[in-house]
Amino acid sequence: MFSAMRKLTLHNLPVLEFPSLALPGLIHCVTTKAGGVSLGVCQGLNLGHGHDRPEAVSQNLELLRRALGLERLVWARQVHGVQIMAVNGRETAPVAEADGLATDRPGVGLLIKQADCQAVVLAAPERGVIANLHVGWRGNVANMPAVGVRFLKERYGVEPGELWAAVSPSLGPCCAEFVNHASELPPEWGVYAVRPDHFDLWQVTWDQLTAAGVPPQRIETSGICTKCNPNFYSYRREGATGRFGTVVALTGEAA
Ligand SMILES: [Zn+2]
Repeated sequence: MFSAMRKLTLHNLPVLEFPSLALPGLIHCVTTKAGGVSLGVCQGLNLGHGHDRPEAVSQNLELLRRALGLERLVWARQVHGVQIMAVNGRETAPVAEADGLATDRPGVGLLIKQADCQAVVLAAPERGVIANLHVGWRGNVANMPAVGVRFLKERYGVEPGELWAAVSPSLGPCCAEFVNHASELPPEWGVYAVRPDHFDLWQVTWDQLTAAGVPPQRIETSGICTKCNPNFYSYRREGATGRFGTVVALTGEAA
């Protein structure tokens, strides 16, 4: 389930990658605070517009795009919903209010911005189709991972068994505290309580992906908790802060 994410440097930008997503036809990374030009509470490679100068965010996004060698980076205005949008890279970002992006176009980087929420990458590089989902606890309650798997089947004809899935650094069971869980979380999530008021959202996503038909041996969870690890922006730790990101793109090389 867990695996050690690999550190690598792309054109001077330190990032992490999922070993299981190092596949022909695919490029991806998870950013940290390292690199970038933002100052103050967003110090580093902040990708979110909430608490930073727009020019700094634009520069950071451009650094990330160039590091990955992509034509375009595409992102949505994330609203903790289950809307998924298929993009071709010619849209102006943010493309819409949505919490999932999908594409079959090479060179288009699908970016999910995060500060404790999960990014869930779904990839079928042999079929030339990818998606990236923003999954906070509300997304888990709405079973966004399964919505994403279904979207790729309906829109692109990709079977769940053809998918690879990866779950980014995000709030771990150590820190996923929900004092109002009785009103916020489904009662059947009692099985995910690791101690009073603390829930294992990584396991929730794992179970939602496998129930949707993604092969268990093709699912990788980073196991990195963003509240515990100061290399990441964390809403729970820092409040007003920046956003790191998870990006996936097709390279257009024959897989
Ligand atoms: Zn933690």
